[in-house]
Amino acid sequence: MSTPPPTLPLSAKLTVLRGIGSTFATVFAENGIESLRDLLWSLPYRYIDRGSVVKIAELDRRPIHAEMNREIVTVLGVIKDLRQTATRVQRMTLIEVLIDDGTGPLRLIWFNQSYLARVLKAGDRILAFGSLAMGRHGLEMRGPAFEIMGRGTDAPEDLWVRRFLPLYRKMGPITGRVRQRLVQEALGKVQTPEEWLPLDLSRGLPDTLSALRLLHQPVDDSDGNELEARATPAHQRLAAEELFAFALGVTLRRAGRLKRRGMVVPTSPELRERLRGFLPFHLTGAQRTAFKEIVEDLTSGRVMHRLLQGDVGSGKTLVAFLAMAMVAETGGQAALLVPTEVLARQHAVTFARLLGEDAPRMQLLLGAMKAAEKRAALERIASGEARYIVGTHALFQESVTFSKLELVVVDEQHRFGVKQREALKGKGLDPHWLVMSATPIPRSLALALFGDLEQSVLDELPPGRQPITTRLMDPDDAERAWDTVERELGAGHQAFVVSPAIDPSDETKVQLRDIQAMEGMIRGRFPEVPIAVVHGRLKADELEARMEAFVKGEARILLATTVIEVGVDVPNATVMVVDHAERFGLSQLHQLRGRVGRGKVRSHFLMISRSETERLHVLVETQDGFRIAQRDLELRGPGEFFGTRQSGVPQFQVADLVRDRQLLARCREAAEKVAARGLSEAQLTWLRQEQARLKLAEIS
Ligand code: ADP
Ligand code: MG
Repeated sequence: MSTPPPTLPLSAKLTVLRGIGSTFATVFAENGIESLRDLLWSLPYRYIDRGSVVKIAELDRRPIHAEMNREIVTVLGVIKDLRQTATRVQRMTLIEVLIDDGTGPLRLIWFNQSYLARVLKAGDRILAFGSLAMGRHGLEMRGPAFEIMGRGTDAPEDLWVRRFLPLYRKMGPITGRVRQRLVQEALGKVQTPEEWLPLDLSRGLPDTLSALRLLHQPVDDSDGNELEARATPAHQRLAAEELFAFALGVTLRRAGRLKRRGMVVPTSPELRERLRGFLPFHLTGAQRTAFKEIVEDLTSGRVMHRLLQGDVGSGKTLVAFLAMAMVAETGGQAALLVPTEVLARQHAVTFARLLGEDAPRMQLLLGAMKAAEKRAALERIASGEARYIVGTHALFQESVTFSKLELVVVDEQHRFGVKQREALKGKGLDPHWLVMSATPIPRSLALALFGDLEQSVLDELPPGRQPITTRLMDPDDAERAWDTVERELGAGHQAFVVSPAIDPSDETKVQLRDIQAMEGMIRGRFPEVPIAVVHGRLKADELEARMEAFVKGEARILLATTVIEVGVDVPNATVMVVDHAERFGLSQLHQLRGRVGRGKVRSHFLMISRSETERLHVLVETQDGFRIAQRDLELRGPGEFFGTRQSGVPQFQVADLVRDRQLLARCREAAEKVAARGLSEAQLTWLRQEQARLKLAEIS
């Protein structure tokens, strides 16, 4: 039988494959796999090196400790016997499987997984990986991971013709084995696509189809470690394709924006004089540079899309204010968008102070305003009487009409929504944008996520800042933390205590009990001290009232879940105790730490934790937010770094934003060149396909 020549483009739908009906197609689609390209880019999760499969007869000679032996071994055998029993003592179900590989038998056992009795059958050939233990009947493997390699007589010996066996994750009803077969079929049918990577990137790497073959059917002399580490040239080829498509999309979007005509904000010596008049202190060098960059944008005739990032306390607000003043003092309107009402009010207070007698030019707009108050606010915004507008998402509601909106500043959010921009476009507005990031973002990630924004970085703190004394303590030493709190309260200062929820968006009763226990403890320890307690279950106005009490100094201790994370400014607070510090990401902790140390006296940041002390120690070692962020990113990956709520982190199948950051930088350079020269037909086609998958449309 002769095989037909490969004829299908990678973009062909999965249903061209023989094994795929509508059920499988639906399951694949739910997992983001719709074309041959998607299927082939879903790489094996691991490779079994035939050389690493151990003969059962040889297991006895391996060192087994009385306790679990941590070493994972791989065995391949046929199921001879399978039984399900109940343990007498704890009434657990026990699945016992006896396999044999021709050299001897081995017992595999699983607890409380009775469904396995339906999955496994005598006669199945299975590959099991797990650690060995000494049981009552001799050597056994407990709770191993396994793959069914063949059933009854169809046991595929041919798989073992090659040294490396790729394993695929089960996807609903689609077993790893089925995926293996589909991938083989797809590889036999697809054509090599026309080369679309620029030479700068493809040099020395295999072409697309060769790369896919190398990863799905590794040749025997492949480097097993490189395969596992996803570090082969074939991996680099596929990663380069993903990152280049992404970089190209971002570059083109930016080029498109630079072509739009932006409102030109006029400058003059008088304006400069006026802005200087608002300043309560000298700008830091970094603030001055950032502001200069903003002025260049605003006067350039193009639409500004700039990311302003800096460490906690580096003074982003003042830079934002100056940008707004530049617009507001030349006849336009500028709006500051913040995530919470507490923060909106606080910014309004700061702005009022900066504006002095011109404070009436500012208007606050909150969702929670009373009807009459809101109507008045909307009226002032529509008439243009309000020049500085501070508010929450209420700013983008339909009922809001601006008279001359020229600049939107977004504070404390990593991304501003496409929806909001669309809402403004709907009103015929195309203002300048300045986005301020709450935490420093590592450069690689900033490039990836905000590659179409210009960037300004505040890498300098205002003078006179006292470093914050940071300590990591065992719960047994917590008394020392409370001593510090007592001392600070005694000196007339205020204190934060953070008792985290595991998931702030879902504060279950259990977690509330945690915070209640902490409250009881604090009230017992400091009976005379007024305390405000805030958590995610409070109604908005109650939360507001309690935060306000702390801001005003009426409450001396603020006990909170993570609600305070974003931005409150209480310079009189000089100590923060974080319980269960291990539940936080490093950047989050650094952000929390930034809530103290805002005044002139030395502040204290005390983390209580019994676990993950090595990770947490980074905070003791450095106060450099960028270094902390980089470490955090390496430890948790981009998705977690931003938290689950921050969607829009592009999902790559092969590329990894941490590991491949240098490659990404090269892809960006290459994309600039290609965009300037114009895209080839192959590049356009590829980009169109990638667009949907990488959600390029969601990139700011
Ligand atoms: P963040 O960048 O974290 O948002 P803020 O804008 O809240 O920082 O500024 C932190 C504190 O530093 C504020 O109390 C602010 O008044 C003060 N500050 C900002 N710029 C300067 C400066 N150039 N000199 C002295 N203090 C400053
Ligand atoms: Mg801020």
